[in-house]
Amino acid sequence: MCAILANISHGDEVIIPSYTFVSTANAFARQGARIVFVDSTSDSPNMDTAQVSSMITPRTKAIVVVHYGGIACDMESIIRVAQRHQLVVIEDAAHGLGSCLRGQPLGAFGHLATFSFHETKNITSGEGGMLVVNDPVFDDRADIIWEKGTNRKAFYSGEVDKYNWLDVGSSFLPSEITAAFLLAQLESMTSIQEKRMAIWNRYLTGLDSLQKRGLLKLAYVPDFATPNGHIFYMVCDSLTTRNSLLSFLNKHGISAVFHYQSLHASPFIKGRQSVQQLPWSDHYSNCLIRLPLFPDLTLEDQNCVIQVIYDFYAA
Ligand SMILES: *Cc1c(COP(=O)(O)O)cnc(C)c1O
Repeated sequence: MCAILANISHGDEVIIPSYTFVSTANAFARQGARIVFVDSTSDSPNMDTAQVSSMITPRTKAIVVVHYGGIACDMESIIRVAQRHQLVVIEDAAHGLGSCLRGQPLGAFGHLATFSFHETKNITSGEGGMLVVNDPVFDDRADIIWEKGTNRKAFYSGEVDKYNWLDVGSSFLPSEITAAFLLAQLESMTSIQEKRMAIWNRYLTGLDSLQKRGLLKLAYVPDFATPNGHIFYMVCDSLTTRNSLLSFLNKHGISAVFHYQSLHASPFIKGRQSVQQLPWSDHYSNCLIRLPLFPDLTLEDQNCVIQVIYDFYAA
């Protein structure tokens, strides 16, 4: 819906981080846009906002940011660049429900923002998501696109006496059953988020001495960001170490996992665009591990995860 609302069409360019899920880019690729990938930074998987202005051309239409692990990107610098070039800013806040940037919730910064309620996210309806429209310029059209391109919403509210096909659209709405499931999740949101943050903080303090010894890097939180305990990640020094640690954890019954493969190097993009070098994005593809994090993870089990990581590095 963001890509349709932003009027993205063939030949337009959209700036997107490479280290993200395919959904971030797919919405724009489907509209015929050329995806211009930005690297991550040495500090975190979030996009390197300092590179963005050099990537803007007369064809650039939008900048899409991803708040990886629910940790805010530097929105101030993105908004400054976007305003200078009159670009649409879209926040992929799929990970970011309940996170803040200087006290303001993620999803409140872009013209448009999206959240995911996929089963892997903090709050879930199995599949599903939410579009946040911050610029009222998009309000009416968003209602129409959401209702399969019709003004059925205006019909239901009595503003028109029949509804018609007005625009492109699709069946973007959830079923009642999905919405009921989501409501129950939202009612428990405070306790879900508190439990996740407690686990997240215990990983951070529990593994800190390995970080101090220079053996790995833990999730990085800039001072402007307040996270939501979505993902706890650590970054190993090489692909070899990462893979041995993963299999060590898995052998001990711990379901730690890696994460995204850089989109700029995906078969889909390689078949269509010239290959870029984005070393930090590849670094996180090769070296990042996500540790088990779910509300009912017990203290005992979490201590076991931390101990197994210490055992790995001791060996
Ligand atoms: C989960 C996720 C999405 C959305 O995925 P859907 O399956 O479409 O809900 C988008 N972006 C990122 C970064 C994600 O992790």
